[in-house]
Amino acid sequence: MSGKIIKVAGPLVVADGLADANVSDVVRVGHQHLIGEILNMTGDRASIQVYEETTGLGPGAEVVTTGAPLSVELGPGMLEGIYDGIQRPLTEIRELTGSTIARGIDVPALNRTKRWEFKPTVKPGAELVEGDIIGTVQETSAIEHRILVPNGISGKVKTIEEGFFTVEDTVCVLERDGKEIPLTMMQKWPVRVNRPYKKKFMPDRPLQSGQRIVDTMFPIAKGGTAAIPGPFGSGKTVMQHALAKWSDVDIVVYIGCGERGNEMTDVLMEFPELIDPHTGEPLMKRTVLIANTSDMPVAAREASIYTGITIAEYFRDMGYDVAVIADSTSRWAEALREMSGRLEEMPGEEGYPAYLASRIAQFYERAGVVECKGADGRRGSLTAIGAVSPPGGDISEPVSQATMRITKVFWGLDSALAYARHFPAINWLNSYSLYLDYLKPWYEKNFPGFMENRNKAMSILQEEANLNEIVRLVGADSLAPNEQLTLATAKMIREDFLQQNSFVDIDSYSETERQFMLMNLIIEFDKLARAAVANGVELEKLVNIPAKEKIGRAKTVPANQYKAEYTQIGEEMRRQIEEASMGGEDA
Ligand code: ADP
Repeated sequence: MSGKIIKVAGPLVVADGLADANVSDVVRVGHQHLIGEILNMTGDRASIQVYEETTGLGPGAEVVTTGAPLSVELGPGMLEGIYDGIQRPLTEIRELTGSTIARGIDVPALNRTKRWEFKPTVKPGAELVEGDIIGTVQETSAIEHRILVPNGISGKVKTIEEGFFTVEDTVCVLERDGKEIPLTMMQKWPVRVNRPYKKKFMPDRPLQSGQRIVDTMFPIAKGGTAAIPGPFGSGKTVMQHALAKWSDVDIVVYIGCGERGNEMTDVLMEFPELIDPHTGEPLMKRTVLIANTSDMPVAAREASIYTGITIAEYFRDMGYDVAVIADSTSRWAEALREMSGRLEEMPGEEGYPAYLASRIAQFYERAGVVECKGADGRRGSLTAIGAVSPPGGDISEPVSQATMRITKVFWGLDSALAYARHFPAINWLNSYSLYLDYLKPWYEKNFPGFMENRNKAMSILQEEANLNEIVRLVGADSLAPNEQLTLATAKMIREDFLQQNSFVDIDSYSETERQFMLMNLIIEFDKLARAAVANGVELEKLVNIPAKEKIGRAKTVPANQYKAEYTQIGEEMRRQIEEASMGGEDA
């Protein structure tokens, strides 16, 4: 079935003669066979979003529908891969055509000739249902790829083979009602359809990111959702990279829709060099990158979010903890706005389509902790983290607002903090995590007192903000000694704990226990000093003890020494505060 182009407007192509096509069908446009997707249809007339540069297309050119929706290929070979928004493998394409993607090029997402070693985990005669694991492939040294019975399929294993196979070879044959169903290691899935699961659960484990302000102050649960809004230059990219590098998840899908081409190039250059602290292996071995650089058409950005999250769901379905990191969803929303404008839809706020909020919600709703399909009851989680880059940093704009309504963690980056070189520039006064109550049992079980410390630290920071108001009005002299102590402790929390330099190796990652011990020192200092001040000890003496200075340098103690070192600082601190207090009584 083919139609003819009647109009071309940038990435939007209108064609008629497509009565047999359906909304969401993928089409091939013009003699270059450009890839497009039908956005809407009236009669036999289709509006098509084309994912490639449309220059040179004109009325009369042919449009052919493939009859299938925009889908991804799922199977071994995705890890370490770099894809564009419609899952074209950029590394392979670059090898074929050089640095720019030739239009209409047809390279399958999964390599068709590579052989993977398949190890069956079921035997002939086994009764299988959708989602059951039939075998595994050691895809990278870090990740075992679990091959699943595709959704909608079940039956009894007739044959299953061990050995080296391509993704198109039959590795297993199921039998059902006298019919044979061959299974390969590859499946396809339409990107705009959520992959099914059995049951969703409340998240109850933290995603440990190694970032102190995240894990201690505003934690995100595995299976949770978070937004990182912030103006240009406030540290969104550095933060997202840190999360991608250090999070204790099995798989990371990083979706980059940077407007600056070089931003994505940074990721492409930097990621292959990184080592995963949890496995000692290159980080790429657990990572799938989706890259949209500025030389790619805007429409491909729109698809990239769905491509990324579908790949993530597939790994979740194997029983893994997966994180999707999208940088930035604002660029994605702009792509949506551009297409909507070309479709001449009724614009909503700031020109965004009226369905902006529901599209954003649909993305984040694909996160969660689930019981996977299959009979073994395994669980997987999908955590979704999105950066938002509001123009001018004003979060009252529609994309920020719609995102904040749906995500449960808000790490608000602040240009004033970035300007003051306080990094990560997450504003502790307006950020929040709605997972604290869900995660409390985990923290209390592993680190008794963690949440109490955390809440104490937060209240000291809030108190500091109030006191700063007073200082501004009537000067620091008006503060009582215990209030001045609050300012001193708040400063410790900010500088010795919250500030974390992503570019200093020792500091870039801080395990949860280390965070706990460090916060313990600060909170204990506050407690002991407060008691001393109440007994009339001069504050000056307390804040000048050598142990306090050591706390200030505690971040850079090497990872294998911090336990002993922090324990010792604690002992010194207690002794020195006691000495200062005795001196105070003498005087
Ligand atoms: P954005 O993506 O919001 O435009 P970036 O992530 O590129 O901002 O950050 C801008 C600059 O801020 C970085 O180049 C770096 O110098 C500094 N920066 C941000 N976060 C950190 C951090 N955690 N540690 C050290 N420097 C940081």
